[in-house]
Amino acid sequence: MSRAKPVIAIDGPAGAGKSTVARNLAKALGFVLVDTGAIYRAVALAATRAGVSRADEPAVASLAEDLLRREALVFHRDADLGMRVLLEGADVSDAIRTPEMGLGASEVSVHPKVRAALLGLQRHAGGSGGVVLEGRDIGTVVFPDAEVKFFLTASPEVRARRRHAELMLKESAPSFEETLAQVKERDLKDETRAVAPLKRAADAVLVDSSDLDFDGVVEQMLTHVRASWRG
Ligand code: C5P
Repeated sequence: MSRAKPVIAIDGPAGAGKSTVARNLAKALGFVLVDTGAIYRAVALAATRAGVSRADEPAVASLAEDLLRREALVFHRDADLGMRVLLEGADVSDAIRTPEMGLGASEVSVHPKVRAALLGLQRHAGGSGGVVLEGRDIGTVVFPDAEVKFFLTASPEVRARRRHAELMLKESAPSFEETLAQVKERDLKDETRAVAPLKRAADAVLVDSSDLDFDGVVEQMLTHVRASWRG
């Protein structure tokens, strides 16, 4: 089935600049942005609130299925604030942005049943095209038929430096060393899990943002999108 507008997949490790780049790319193209990490973070938050262990695969999976069945986990497009995540009717977009929920997301996302439960929501969000999805397995699992795929990466040190600068804007920032250790720990978890590990799809364009600013990265991507899709 061909789409009028492409599905653009952006995968890559934490801190490579995916969020900023995906947001700016979507804006430049007038496309919808779907941050799939937010879904895993929201499930981790819901599990914490419900007192469900993140290690308990069946319990986390049924919690996720229940949330989706009741439409208690949804995306909401806010004219001013962009994409927001609502959990049980409350805006949790900021509450899920903590390092704790980042780690929580990577813990719940190792479970095949949890990933399977969240597949439909992601496919539904992107199915008709004109969308930029950012995550870890969009080009490999969620949308293997995406018209345009990018794998955005940067060295662990560069990614930790960026993440650390971000966290410094908030209270109780961890040290740079702790941030670097967290980045590496998440990489290892994401790359070595049995189901949908973080890896570049064979047909994804590799973009390294270590020595490029994000505007430069977006320019590079726009050039590629325009060359491969003439809508
Ligand atoms: O991108 P973000 O940092 O919000 O993702 C948090 C965690 O959620 C990642 O470290 C990864 O373990 C998991 N995730 C995933 N698949 C996705 C998006 C995120 O496994 N498509």
